[in-house]
Amino acid sequence: MGKVKHLLGISGGKDSAALAIYLNDKHPELDLTYYFCDTGKELDETYQLIENIEIYLGKKIAKLEPADAVKSDENPFDHYYKAYRGYLPSSVARWCTKKMKLEPFERFVGDDPVVSYVGIRGDEDREGYISKKQNIQSIFPFRRNIWSEDVIRKVLSNTNREHLMDLYSSYLSGSELDSVSELVSEKLILELKNPLQNKKVIHNKLNSILDKGIAQFNRVTFDYLKDTEYPLAQESDFPLLENEEVLVKKDIFRTLEESGVGVPEYYHEVEYEVDGEKGTYARSRSGCFFCFFQQKIEWVWLHEQHPKRFKEAMEYENEKEGFTWNQNESLKEIIDPKRVEQIKRDHLNKLKANSNNKDSNKLMDILDDGDAGCTACFV
Ligand code: SF4
Repeated sequence: MGKVKHLLGISGGKDSAALAIYLNDKHPELDLTYYFCDTGKELDETYQLIENIEIYLGKKIAKLEPADAVKSDENPFDHYYKAYRGYLPSSVARWCTKKMKLEPFERFVGDDPVVSYVGIRGDEDREGYISKKQNIQSIFPFRRNIWSEDVIRKVLSNTNREHLMDLYSSYLSGSELDSVSELVSEKLILELKNPLQNKKVIHNKLNSILDKGIAQFNRVTFDYLKDTEYPLAQESDFPLLENEEVLVKKDIFRTLEESGVGVPEYYHEVEYEVDGEKGTYARSRSGCFFCFFQQKIEWVWLHEQHPKRFKEAMEYENEKEGFTWNQNESLKEIIDPKRVEQIKRDHLNKLKANSNNKDSNKLMDILDDGDAGCTACFV
């Protein structure tokens, strides 16, 4: 096994950009390698963001492209679009992420042990992409729980309870140890056919233990990993063990603004008018400009704010074959003036319905902020 590599993927989104800045500032001792999987179909703002981060870090971000596309000297997306005979990717046939993000990443990593840092925020409830490769371990520095789900399942498993208590006894004693032991010794009641419920049960136990001390839990988890094949087993220490900070959306925007890297232009809300009333729209995620995960209002935004890109997206559609970015509606239908008005009206109503919630009065909070996607594209 080679030396452990520490990798951070920049997706072009705000969270991974903020994570690069955060780790660079807070943990300069981490020898990080940065990479960006280029689909060749990002908005110009994404490429600008990558450049700004490079300047801030004083380091190059490795640009990863799929080997087949490099060989054929074609744009990555266009190469696979042809290979799939015009069959557009979708949430159920997501060849784009597999071919242009996951495979180039796994090829870049090879068989070396890798710790991969993922910018999922403390206010998000998603796990994101976890590589199936044994040599890749994911860490989530913005969350209270920095460990991936697979690690937590093992650490908190019923068969590991005694071992966990032993590990805790190296750091705690007396009443502190007693109160953690009480939680650790509690048996998890899991149901074979109810993974969602099991997740909740494990999550509740984890949170109770974290309430007793995040750094101690991180220490014992790190010690537990010593006897495993996880990449961190090879490290003598890990700077993030003491990190108890939790970063949420407003911290991400603040980090980007204060660093001078800046928030990509497409996150900035732009005013629109419908029925004499005003609303705002923006793009909620990074990734390909034609991404099928985007909402109807984001397509309208693309049409009005980036008409050339919208036209390009239209050119990939083949209505006769039923190859469209949205299941029941082509882009040509979306930009019918009546339909645009309807989409804006629906969106405005959604904004109004959310306006009573003071924490959700920004468009960014109302759109689903990429949760339908994955960490390979939208972090
Ligand atoms: S951004 Fe969307 S279209 Fe692009 S690779 Fe990711 S999922 Fe596919």
